Amino acid sequence: MYSNTFGLETFSIEGIKQTEIKAMTNQDFEVKSLGECSVTSPLYNAYANTPMVDGLFVDNNDRILYDATLENFQKCLKEGIEPITFEKAGPREKIFFSPANTKAAIVTCGGLCPGINNVIRSVVNGLYYRYNVKNIVGIPYGYEGLIPEFGHTWVDLNPNVVKDIHLFGGSILGSSRGRQNIERMVDTLERNNINMLFTIGGDGTLSGNHVIQEEIERRGLKIATAGIPKTIDNDVNFIHKTFGFETAFTTAAPIIRDAHNEATGAFNGVAIVKLMGRDSGFIAANAALAMPDVNFVLVPESEFDLYGPNGFLEALKERLQVGRHAVVVVAEGAGQNLFDSDDSVVKDASGNVKHKDIGVLLKDTITKFFKDQEFEATVKYIDPSYIIRSEQANASDSIFCSSLAMNAVHGVMAGKTDFVVGRWNTHFTYLPIPTATSSRKKIDLNGELWWSVLENTGQPYSMKNDKK
Ligand code: ATP
Ligand code: MG
Repeated sequence: MYSNTFGLETFSIEGIKQTEIKAMTNQDFEVKSLGECSVTSPLYNAYANTPMVDGLFVDNNDRILYDATLENFQKCLKEGIEPITFEKAGPREKIFFSPANTKAAIVTCGGLCPGINNVIRSVVNGLYYRYNVKNIVGIPYGYEGLIPEFGHTWVDLNPNVVKDIHLFGGSILGSSRGRQNIERMVDTLERNNINMLFTIGGDGTLSGNHVIQEEIERRGLKIATAGIPKTIDNDVNFIHKTFGFETAFTTAAPIIRDAHNEATGAFNGVAIVKLMGRDSGFIAANAALAMPDVNFVLVPESEFDLYGPNGFLEALKERLQVGRHAVVVVAEGAGQNLFDSDDSVVKDASGNVKHKDIGVLLKDTITKFFKDQEFEATVKYIDPSYIIRSEQANASDSIFCSSLAMNAVHGVMAGKTDFVVGRWNTHFTYLPIPTATSSRKKIDLNGELWWSVLENTGQPYSMKNDKK
């Protein structure tokens, strides 16, 4: 009755722009499975004699609407099109893996982010207590731990080993960057009889998970792979928020408060705070809304000029003339167009382009600009990045990490593979990794989030000289 396409080009929600996503279909949201589920879940047995059993289990056909507006609902009805939906996460009554014969592995890769240890702890506890999977190993130092030559010794994980790890930031397993040989990693999984691999990491880790899964499939192995997306920047498409993001802007808020104190402490004081946000400025935008003493938020999504009548420096000068102090929050990926293009591109071990330091550029440029004009000003620069990303998860993220991890465990036990756990419209979801990593979630400059930022800061809509 329905045709199977529904264009997402014009959709925008919570400041999230989806323009790059052209006419995806529900096939793009189908999660792969290793096969039929014939084992009764231990959860069923645990609750069989309680009323809980009636509402606990999620059916594979339960789906969550992408666009929950009435307008969309009516449009779909009227035009006979099937709305885009995501698979609902949660425990299945029948599962694929028989717990007694199952061995799980957990690996963490990429940069640190608050909440990694909470996720590890909950994956271990979920497997151990809910599904009676007792054979769980931690792979140290990212994908390196799957290559024997590195000599990283695997760690046996159980509830006793992980009982206190949520009290610390970082990852008890350590992490690494740099590509590893896919065949050799799968050889290691096969040789060690691993049935399920949980990868906790960002876009690179998830891409790695996907190619590992392709090799697993090519060999016809029954190994499930699940990703728990770790991006402090909150830049994963189709996922309302990622873990660590909320802790990041919560930790940034008092730093902005202190920067404001510094700025007000000097005549024409300017305080610059650089926050994370390689390609998306969600942390900068949310931190500025949480501590609304900020006068300028500079994000990767919005290019700006430094000089010229409509450029940032003139706007800053105007602000100082009115308020005698200014707080600037800049995301690390903002203003990259301002660096000389013939500068050599620097990459990290995984091939990610390292951004030039926009914070230092702003500090030096602002200082010189005002000095040349003999305009008295004091500029202070604060870069709290490492303090933020190694912070312990806050209360809200701690709950969120546990739920993400538990839902990853439910999905894997049901034989789902090559998927990430997400959250959308107040439900936990499963998404195929290629879809989740197909493009980045970015701030919609014409959406509600950015509008709030403009309202709170008073900064101009555009600081480009050629604005329309
Ligand atoms: P962050 O967002 O913190 O940077 P990340 O997961 O993106 O986290 P990366 O260092 O980019 O961090 O990647 C993590 C690991 O995944 C690295 O070991 C990297 O080499 C590997 N990886 C990235 N992309 C691929 C890919 N396409 N195939 C195989 N491995 C990959
Ligand atoms: Mg990355």
